[in-house]
Amino acid sequence: METHEKASELLKIRNEVAACVKCKLCKTRNLTVPGEGNPDAKILFLGEAPGANEDKKGIPFCGAAGNFLNEMLESIGLKREDVFITNTVKCRPPENRDPEDIEKSTCRPYLNRQFEIISPKLIVLMGRHATATFLPGVGTITQLHGRTLKRPDGRVYLPLYHPAAALHNGSLRATLVADFQKIPIIIKKIKAREEDQKKAEKDKSEQIKLI
Ligand code: URA
Ligand code: SF4
Repeated sequence: METHEKASELLKIRNEVAACVKCKLCKTRNLTVPGEGNPDAKILFLGEAPGANEDKKGIPFCGAAGNFLNEMLESIGLKREDVFITNTVKCRPPENRDPEDIEKSTCRPYLNRQFEIISPKLIVLMGRHATATFLPGVGTITQLHGRTLKRPDGRVYLPLYHPAAALHNGSLRATLVADFQKIPIIIKKIKAREEDQKKAEKDKSEQIKLI
């Protein structure tokens, strides 16, 4: 899909989310937070749910955790505009409670469509909620952080500690910052693997066979 086509499909989702009343979070939200970023992003960052700042502005990760995320992105030479950032639910749960399974599953089609349109090479699962949603039963965030996993959907996932959880915890913070530095290496590896596959296919298609 061309970039402008992707942008227009993402805008459709944004408009649908703005009018969405599919789960009860619609009753308590102020603004919806559909997510934002580059339609051609190689990396999609997935958080849990909008908080108070996000609910006020309609922008994901725009509070203290967001500033920390911006800093970490900069540390690997990326800006927010280079990536796509969204959450497992697009509306704030009251009092920042955990999103319920039914809310996450009701909201999931929007996220699935975002995945399809953007087709990121890497999905970064920020925190135990995003991790548990995509890698249920695989392990805890303590076991999985900083490791890449491939799901049956063919996509590559990287669980990380949530920036809000790590912000005020020295050891989690250091671990998160260290895990974050792996992102460019992971992207390089994924690209190299794709190149190898393409080359193998090309070689195969050019083979001369005696039949
Ligand atoms: N925490 C999240 O999980 N998502 C946001 O958008 C902000 C804070
Ligand atoms: Fe709709 Fe998702 Fe908001 Fe629920 S959280 S109202 S499903 S956009």
